[in-house]
Amino acid sequence: MYGYPRQGRNRELKKAVEGYWKGRVSADALRETARELRGANWLQLADAGIGEVPTGDFSYYDHVLDTTVMVGAIPARHRTAVELDALDGYFAMARGTQDVAPLEMTKWFDTNYHYLVPELGPDTRFTANPAKQVAELTEAVALGHTARPVLVGPVTYLLLAKPAPGVAADFEPLTLLDRLLPVYAEVLAALRAAGAEWVQLDEPALVQDRTPAELNAAARTYRELGALSPLTERPKLLVASYFERLGDALPVLAKSPVEGLALDFTGAAAANLADLAAVGGLPGKRLVAGVVNGRNIWINDYQKSLTTLGTLLGLADRVDVAASCSLLHVPLDADAERDIDPQVRRWLAFARQKTAEITTLARGLARGTGAITAELAANRADLASRATSAITHDPAVRARTAAVTDADGRRPQPYAERAAAQRAHLSLPPLPTTTIGSFPQTDELRTARADLRAGRIDAAEYEERIKAEIREVVSFQEKTGVDVLVHGEPERNDMVQYFAEQLTGYLATQHGWVQSYGTRYVRPPLLAGDVSRPDPMTVRWTAYAQGQTAKPVKGMLTGPVTMLAWSFVRDDQPLGETARQVALALRDEVDELESAGTSVIQVDEPALRETLPLRADGHADYLAWATESFRLTTSGVRPDTQIHTHMCYAEFGDILQAIDDLDADVISLEAARSHMRVADELASAGYPREVGPGVWDIHSPRVPSTAEAAALLRKGLQAIPADRLWVNPDCGLKTRGWPETRASLEHLVAAAREVRTETTPTATA
Ligand code: GLN
Ligand code: ZN
Repeated sequence: MYGYPRQGRNRELKKAVEGYWKGRVSADALRETARELRGANWLQLADAGIGEVPTGDFSYYDHVLDTTVMVGAIPARHRTAVELDALDGYFAMARGTQDVAPLEMTKWFDTNYHYLVPELGPDTRFTANPAKQVAELTEAVALGHTARPVLVGPVTYLLLAKPAPGVAADFEPLTLLDRLLPVYAEVLAALRAAGAEWVQLDEPALVQDRTPAELNAAARTYRELGALSPLTERPKLLVASYFERLGDALPVLAKSPVEGLALDFTGAAAANLADLAAVGGLPGKRLVAGVVNGRNIWINDYQKSLTTLGTLLGLADRVDVAASCSLLHVPLDADAERDIDPQVRRWLAFARQKTAEITTLARGLARGTGAITAELAANRADLASRATSAITHDPAVRARTAAVTDADGRRPQPYAERAAAQRAHLSLPPLPTTTIGSFPQTDELRTARADLRAGRIDAAEYEERIKAEIREVVSFQEKTGVDVLVHGEPERNDMVQYFAEQLTGYLATQHGWVQSYGTRYVRPPLLAGDVSRPDPMTVRWTAYAQGQTAKPVKGMLTGPVTMLAWSFVRDDQPLGETARQVALALRDEVDELESAGTSVIQVDEPALRETLPLRADGHADYLAWATESFRLTTSGVRPDTQIHTHMCYAEFGDILQAIDDLDADVISLEAARSHMRVADELASAGYPREVGPGVWDIHSPRVPSTAEAAALLRKGLQAIPADRLWVNPDCGLKTRGWPETRASLEHLVAAAREVRTETTPTATA
């Protein structure tokens, strides 16, 4: 086991940590809650038959931040706070304070877990601080468990780091390896002294495409750590990889003097099996075989796993069964989902069920399938029920996706023709102003939703409150002089969940919380079956908003890639097939919005970049189905209907072609913080379409001045002509308050008006 959900059955950890921040929970009480949660997890794992329980995987906030503390790489700006009080300093690094910025947060590989990015520079000096690791190991040992401490490996730690503020952008943290290794050696010695027989070093960064220099660094790392004498200077070393195949890093690690490797054998990583045979296996080493997918929520196929395990037996000294990665990425217990149809519940395996799968498979491997006859039969029946269910196989949906032609995914007119038709139809000024969709989610809105759920108000009353909010949002935008309005998305709790609740094939969980970052937990919907759209989902609200104004109101949908990326998606068919089903359902919504009088429709795809496969050889296939599903969603409309898309990031250099392949008419992107760099990048790549690089950083309550927004627009105009440049914030406004929203949008419109007077629109081709 590499790691287990941290939060506890009732998200006790979240409550304790947030209580501590608010001063309602003492540091001691927080530590006690944490200790109880760890103890409960270990007990559950040990009772289920897990041989070594993980330690060190627990975290108050993030395990990469814990590693930063372990190696003493505290950023200069946080040092005083950390010295004053380790716990408060820790949370200051995670969340920032009034005066000091937090560490940057980014996604852990291609998961939805966010880690805090280490900040390193040529002056970084590491010092070993093994206290947390040692304490948790000691705690588990005292409770009578055999424990395997889990650490982020040194190569991955450095590869995940970025240059500290003020350090040259081309500084490579990996150059610090020689300074870091002695610190890891010290931590290993401390863990050995505390009784660890094995230690696990997670090196998921090695499943990405790596340069020869990076592979050399990995070789050197495990040569040096391996050279310490096992069981005197260090525990035995298990180097763990997950999320993809090890590829070129496999021979490097196989040759290194470590005692064990953990490999992922699920999904694309199943290629590890052939690769392992090709390098002659792992003679003399322990192999931990990740055959139970640690990041989806579907039951294992026992027969298939046993076949894999059988092959692996011949390839290593000892083979242990495991999940493919930490179970941090899945909810705790499927049995808690009382509202899910029992027929579907038997297809689900959350952390507890996965633990049982691991021990069952281990028994089957050790004692033969005869020892697990009943489990095998039940598993076969569950898989069969899934394969033949009407939920996973809706003939109407199947027939429709099968009939999709290439033409269905293409707008008949080329972009330039459409642009002209849209110009005539919409008659917008140059530098048109708009927003990304959501307006502030006020307490009143949240209360209305809670009241509806609790039955304190009925659907009609809820509807009235939503309509009142829409009227308010529309009249504010009219008064402010925004050109393309939105209805504000007041009816949406979440941009994926809202649609998932209305599409067949999706299920909601009651307790399926998964850590997104820190104390933020999300409940991703389960995309379990064939997807269709029984009724319109947004048309009513958009049409209502359009009824309040003569200006165009933009329809607002979440795109197919994001609908998959932020859900637990079925694993019994290719992702592209599932995306196509979602796309066709959304296409009906797009078409119906158009029929209801919507001339501008935005399909958000903030997840397009983050879902990109970890290795470059998977990119083409992914981008093909991803862009196809977007086009399938959007290409049923008239030429004069304008399709927008939105993405929340600036790092899209490696998917520029895919962005063009979406064939959207307008794209809005985050740009305020990077001073419109995206505008330059798009322009120099010859991007021919309209672009709205954000001029208001909505991640902070700061109100940009008119002059500031105007300066950014002038900067944008150097790259993109006035008749192709839009004026908008970086992202939706749902997390902002009304006062800053009002002021910022007024400044934004004023800036657009000011800059318009300075430009003469150029003729477009
Ligand atoms: N339309 C969504 C909103 O404005 C887009 C959010 C997003 O891109 N994450 O909230
Ligand atoms: Zn966004």
